[in-house]
Formats: sequence, C-alpha cells, structure tokens
Amino acid sequence: CAVFGVFNHPEAANLAYLGLYALQHRGQEASGIVSSDGQHFYVQKGKGLVADIYSKSVLAQLPGHMAIGHNRYSTAGGSDFKNVQPLTVNFALGNLALAHNGNLINAQMLRNELEAYGAIFQSTSDTEVIIHLIAHSRADTLLARVVDALSQVRGAYSLVLMTDEGLMAVRDPHGFRPLCLGQVRDSWMVASESCAFDLLDAEYVREIEPGELVVINEKKVASYRPFAPANSAMCVFEYVYFARPDSRIFGGGHAVYQVRKALGRQLAQEAWVAADLVVPVPDSGVPAALGYSEGSGIPFETGLMRNHYVGRTFIEPEQSIRHFGVKVKLNAIPEVLEGKRVVVVDDSIVRGTTSRKIVKMLRNAGAKEVHMRISSPPIVAPCFYGIDTPTKRELIGSSHTVEEIRKYVTADSVAYLSLDGMLKAAPASAERYCAACFTDRYPIPFTKAEELQLGL
Ligand code: 5GP
Ligand code: SF4
Ligand code: MG
Repeated sequence: CAVFGVFNHPEAANLAYLGLYALQHRGQEASGIVSSDGQHFYVQKGKGLVADIYSKSVLAQLPGHMAIGHNRYSTAGGSDFKNVQPLTVNFALGNLALAHNGNLINAQMLRNELEAYGAIFQSTSDTEVIIHLIAHSRADTLLARVVDALSQVRGAYSLVLMTDEGLMAVRDPHGFRPLCLGQVRDSWMVASESCAFDLLDAEYVREIEPGELVVINEKKVASYRPFAPANSAMCVFEYVYFARPDSRIFGGGHAVYQVRKALGRQLAQEAWVAADLVVPVPDSGVPAALGYSEGSGIPFETGLMRNHYVGRTFIEPEQSIRHFGVKVKLNAIPEVLEGKRVVVVDDSIVRGTTSRKIVKMLRNAGAKEVHMRISSPPIVAPCFYGIDTPTKRELIGSSHTVEEIRKYVTADSVAYLSLDGMLKAAPASAERYCAACFTDRYPIPFTKAEELQLGL
C-alpha cells in the first residue's frame, strides 16, 4: 500500500491526489483521501485507480489545509469497500483518520480481545484494530494513546494519522516499510516513497526512522522515540521489486534504480552465460537487465514490449488464443530475437506461470537459446508484513529445485541471485534487512497463537 499526508497547504487534497498518483504502483485496488479544516473531516474513497476515482468535482469536496491518503493493495482483510482507507472515526478526543502500509501479525488476537470487551468492528482489515486500541486506551493525551495502542501491535506499520490538530507519522520499530518526510515552503508532507515529493516539487527531508513517531501541527514538527528498540528488518523486496526505481527509500542515499542495477551486476558475476543479448522482462526487470548487461559485457536489447494500458480484465475472443493473458501485456520482437542466444532477466519468480509463458514467447519469436536470470533468490515463503505473496504451496520456489523450475519454465538454464549477493548489493548491512520470503526465517518470532492463525 501507499500512504501520503500533507499539513498546512491551501490545496491539501489536490496535493494528496498527486502524491497518491505518484504512488499508484504500491496499490491499485482502491484509494481514499480524507481532508480537514481542523473542525470537520471530509472523506472521498473509491475502488480502482487514482486517475479514475478523483475528478475535479470529487476533489472540490475535500476542503481544508491538511489531508491524508491511501492506495490499497489488499494483503489482509479482502477487497470489501469497508476496508478502503483512510479509516475515520469520531471519538472522545475528536476526529481521527488513519492510513496504514504494512500488516499486523497479531491483529486477529487483538480483535478477539477487543470484541470480548464490546468493540464493534466496521471492517475486516487489520488496521481497524489500531483505531480501537486508541479509543480504548486510558492514557490522557492522543499522543499517549497512539503510543499505547502501537505498543500492543506486532508486525509492520508505516502509518499516517490525522487529528483535528495535525498529522502524526509513525514507523514500526523494525522499519519494515519505508516512510519519508518532505517539505515545500512551510508545508510538511509524509509519503511512502520520495517519488511523491518529486512530483510536488517538494524537498525530500529525510526518512522517518524505525520506531520514530513524528508529530506535525501548527506549533511544531516534533520527533519522539516512544517504543522499545527492536531488530532492524527493512524489506529487501522493496529494492528488488516493489518501490519505484526513482525513489529513495530507507534513507540509503541511493535511488532504488541504482540498487536494482547493482543486483543485476552481481547476478552477472555469479551467473554469467555465453549469449548474444540481454533482454529484460519489462518493466520490473529493466534496471537489473541493464546491470547484467554492464556486468557481463553482453549487449542489452529490448526484445519484449509491454502494453502499459492493460486493465484488470479484458474480454477474450471466443476462439481461445494460446497464452492470451500474457500476450495482451507483453509481445516479443522477432527481428531482435531471431537466431539469438538470449539472457532474459526478471526481478523475481513467484508462481512461475508468467516466466514459463515468456520463455515460450521468446522461442516462438526465434530465440535459439533462452537463459533465465533472476535478480533475487527463490521466493520460498509468504510475506506477513505487507507484500501480497501467495501461500507457500503456490510459490514455485518453495517446493521445486532450480533444475525443476528450469524444466517447468522450459528455459535452457535458470539462475537466481544468491542471498548474500542480494544483500551485498543493497545499501545497508545485511543484518538490517528482512529477507524472510527468501529464507523462511522471519524477523519477529511468532507466538503459538499466531502460528495457528497464520497457518504455519
Ligand atoms: P511468475 O513467473 O512467478 O508468474 O511471475 C513473475 C513476475 O511477477 C515477475 O515479473 C515479477 O516482477 C512479478 N511480481 C513479483 N512480485 C509481484 C507482486 O507482488 N505483484 C505482482 N503483480 N507481480 C509481482
Ligand atoms: Fe519484504 Fe519478503 Fe520480508 Fe515481506 S518477507 S517484508 S516481502 S523481505
Ligand atoms: Mg515483472
């Protein structure tokens, strides 16, 4: 998911809209903006893409000098409209809106306890638990209640909250998901990734640190460290696939693009193969393929084109066309591939179904050999921290050897980047990252109840 917040701007909702537009890649299922003039909260939400939800007239119904927004990509709670964020409530301490990127691993247990005390939940999302914990807290200030609530949840959260006074931005102590602070003149902003600031001509100030809570209101921008320190677990998959290449995340001082290229160069070192061309699987494989080309000395070529206008569903012709689904999205260029030994580079293999179709497509277009190179290790375990990976059974890497995967995708060879190689290419030291989907070693030990809940 994506979160965004802006404080002290006459066009707060318009900025939130643009920020969410830049963060569209983090969630395409639904989006919402809540604005405020310090007295009333105004809410607009919809299913689908940012560009389709917010028209001029919709944005005109979002007055006020502050706003927060969210793009949803469902990991927990399903696609029910009630789960579309930001969630809003009016309770003893005033209005509150909350937008969450991440996933809480003890949400169900907390929900059961809260319901036993009479809480009535409106949604099935894990995020609503935070709202109830805030409402139930006996601490006297809102800040203290937020800290009290968040001290009880376990898992991943990069949050933006809005109150009648201003914003709060919080990152969980492990720092799973990115969250950064920006500024344009005397307006402050918070966003999942810095690419949102670039669109708004705002300055990237800094990353919000793991375990940090930032309060932004008329009087101050103040930083708190209210939580016990925890082991660092920044999501390495943000670098591999999820974040936009032009963003800076995790305060690393590098664009995601540079890290992806480094992953590709490292892959060339580890898994070189004699070939004529390096072809990326667009768009996510492009920077890694450039890195592989640089590292291997094999020329980079665009052998696959992507149609950028493919929506969620398309009407198939009645006479079935083979591999129609992938062909709508990708097409090979025979004039580039004919008679060539091709290294095809992608960022990851999840189920293996797309990869298999791509190999066939390259061969049909005349490629003589197809060598698949993947700029991350095999995905062997699901993510419980906010990335929507399928169950372990559906992950081809969890049950198949690399040789079995090669047979399945029908490539001449398949090689993945090593775990060490991936972590070496990422900017911070290896132990600061979560890599659980590649290792099956989760950075937060599960309780027995959580294991049962998550089906582990
Ligand atoms: P597969 O061969 O496993 O069917 O598909 C691999 C492709 O899925 C890669 O191109 C990779 O970029 C993409 N991918 C990896 N993770 C995700 C994800 O979380 N969501 C989507 N939509 N694609 C993903
Ligand atoms: Fe990221 Fe994988 Fe860890 Fe999830 S399990 S937070 S996707 S590295
Ligand atoms: Mg891809």
